[in-house]
Amino acid sequence: MPAMSNQERKLWNEKIETLSRDAVRALQLEKLRKQVAYNYEHSPVYRKKFDDVGAAPEDIKSFEDFARIPVMTKDEHRRTQEESLERYGNPYALLACAPKEKIIRINSTSGTTGMPTLYTLTRHDVDVVNEMHARKYWRAGIRPGDVMLQALSLSMFTGGLPLSQGIMHMGACVVPVGVEGGTKRVLDFVRLTSPTAIIATPSFGQYLMEKCPEVTGRQARDLGIRWFFCAGEPGGGNPEVRKMLAEGFHAKVFDHTGGGHAFHGISCDEPPEQFSGMHFVSEDHCLLELVDPHTKEGIALQDGAVGEMVFTFLDWEGGPFMRYALGDLLEIYDRPCACGMPGIRFKIIGRADDMLIVKGVNVYPEAVRSAILRFAPKVTGFFRILLDKPGPLVKPPLKIRLEYGPGIAEKDLASLEAEVLSYFRQEVRIGPSLEWVPPETFPRETKKTKYIQIRET
Ligand SMILES: [Zn+2]
Repeated sequence: MPAMSNQERKLWNEKIETLSRDAVRALQLEKLRKQVAYNYEHSPVYRKKFDDVGAAPEDIKSFEDFARIPVMTKDEHRRTQEESLERYGNPYALLACAPKEKIIRINSTSGTTGMPTLYTLTRHDVDVVNEMHARKYWRAGIRPGDVMLQALSLSMFTGGLPLSQGIMHMGACVVPVGVEGGTKRVLDFVRLTSPTAIIATPSFGQYLMEKCPEVTGRQARDLGIRWFFCAGEPGGGNPEVRKMLAEGFHAKVFDHTGGGHAFHGISCDEPPEQFSGMHFVSEDHCLLELVDPHTKEGIALQDGAVGEMVFTFLDWEGGPFMRYALGDLLEIYDRPCACGMPGIRFKIIGRADDMLIVKGVNVYPEAVRSAILRFAPKVTGFFRILLDKPGPLVKPPLKIRLEYGPGIAEKDLASLEAEVLSYFRQEVRIGPSLEWVPPETFPRETKKTKYIQIRET
């Protein structure tokens, strides 16, 4: 662990974070071979994965060998947790690889539908997670003395308590106010603690900007916030969203993620209208692969590749996921980054489940949001996609209900609509039908916003 005294050093873990691509891959392969042997020995679920393809851990000599092991889908994972609950009285017994007395924390996903994914961590695993949070914030320029207001959903999901611990680990000060208490409470604590950084979903950030003058008597840009860290939604990689937050808070905007505890990335210090992807900072503890979301066939990790992420925990004890398809779609960047840091980068495009297909065109809610936000402040940016039945196939036209901006009169709507539609046809390659509603029609969500609404039949 690096000494805390040197405030000037650029990276938290200089040795690991500056490794060349070849050195990272060699380290990953070495750790992978140990990890698969460990998983095989300690979990019947992983043992069966090997047995099903007639392989043994010692057969894994390359990444290609490893790609023969079938992926674990979200559904399969859920079924495994249910079976575990039935047989052992908890959902993780079949997947945890460490003895019970070594497990010191159980976390979960926010779990919007069905059983949440449970993560079991040992002391070693908690240390790894803390280290990854420290790497991200240190790169962004956070140092001891900075105050970080954590305005994500707290409790046990990955952006909750584990994130608070990571911030403390690097020596910065966390204010874990959480979004559960509502906007006023978050803004009250901004007033009381003068944070230099805010961590929130982009949509909650937008809501804070709207409500700030009313609650604090000041504009959000006058609060002294220097960093806005986006999490929980893909918007932090979207130039329109980044510009809105950068201008609204007069802050640098970073996108970052800590998906599944092992998959960590952060964008670099760059202007909001630019986005070069998030640098993958946890490659020594997470092997990333990309697969086709439907066939689960492998896709090479090269510049511009898009696919569903599959991850394998490396050097992990508690519940080391192996070839787990979490359902996030990524785009890969492997050309050198202007910031000079090595390694691959990625952008989270959205959930594989949220992808819609309209007349053969793949449409993600985030792309719809991006297109709408181009017209701010004539629109608020809040919208819903209305479906008659669950996707991905949508009978055209795609129906979008959206708020016009506070300064817009009803008589202006026809010309605004023509502008918006023309942009959608050119840039998103669909011709949606728009339904306009007044500002503040939609609730300002404190958690992840669900942009897709299925109509009751
Ligand atoms: Zn960079």
